[in-house]
Amino acid sequence: MIFHVLTLFPDMVRTALDSSVLGRAARKGLLQINAVNIRDFSGNIHNSVDDYTYGGGAGMLMQAQPVYDCCCSVQAGILERQKKPARVLYMSPQGRTFDQDMAKELALEEELILLCGHYEGIDARALTAVRAEEVSIGDFVLTGGELPAMVIIDAVSRMIPGVLGNQESADTDSFMNGLLEYPQYSRPAVWDGMEVPPVLLSGDHAKVDIWRFEQSLAITKERRPDLYEKFVRDNPGLMEERRKRIERERRIEERRRRKERQAENGKKEDNSNDHIADPSDDHTPH
Ligand code: SAM
Repeated sequence: MIFHVLTLFPDMVRTALDSSVLGRAARKGLLQINAVNIRDFSGNIHNSVDDYTYGGGAGMLMQAQPVYDCCCSVQAGILERQKKPARVLYMSPQGRTFDQDMAKELALEEELILLCGHYEGIDARALTAVRAEEVSIGDFVLTGGELPAMVIIDAVSRMIPGVLGNQESADTDSFMNGLLEYPQYSRPAVWDGMEVPPVLLSGDHAKVDIWRFEQSLAITKERRPDLYEKFVRDNPGLMEERRKRIERERRIEERRRRKERQAENGKKEDNSNDHIADPSDDHTPH
């Protein structure tokens, strides 16, 4: 997959994405980061790309022409390779909030354009002309779109087969199945007086799975009731199965306790019978 990042700070993007998991994936040819400097399309001798906003107000705005030309130049290459233009995502606090579902959706694309604003943002006409989809990474304002672009590239890349060493680790991550992830532990089994939950040491995979699912449900219910409600709504079969399993376990436990009580009562009876005098015994002192 190719991520084209249109930015005034290409080095910032290149440096950050050249290390760790994404750097390795890029070297394996699974993804490519093409950081393009919008300033190269300024078209004036001062290389300037920003100007004052009409109507007054503080701050500068990125002008339409350099952004448009930069985007068209990148789309031309994409059109040649893919026979269709790529989606253009404008990093913007006003956009659709990025989430795991969107990461999965974007991972299906062959190439993506991520447009980074700076200063007060980008002239609205350029955004219309390049058919930009606005995407936000949260309800706060950053100084530029580079960090949001990197956040999106990171989350999308994790969805590309082969990028993570162990694909399973992405499949069980928070949000992948609509729930937050269960707590995890590594060696040693006891650290600073705190023990790893015994079920994780049992070697019983079915029990571990059930424990993890219950933990995920509990954590999601506590921290993100909105996600919990949605999960319960979207997975009636799974929740019904869970209800039946809990009911079955409750009955087994009840039976076990009853048997324990019976065994206990039986023992008591035996003990008390020991004290009942056998009429054949002659206790009269001779
Ligand atoms: N004046 C803009 C507004 O109020 O919507 C904010 C501009 S911001 C200072 C500069 C750039 O940072 C934006 O053009 C955008 O590319 C990026 N940016 C800031 N916050 C963002 C967020 N939460 N999500 C995505 N991009 C963001």
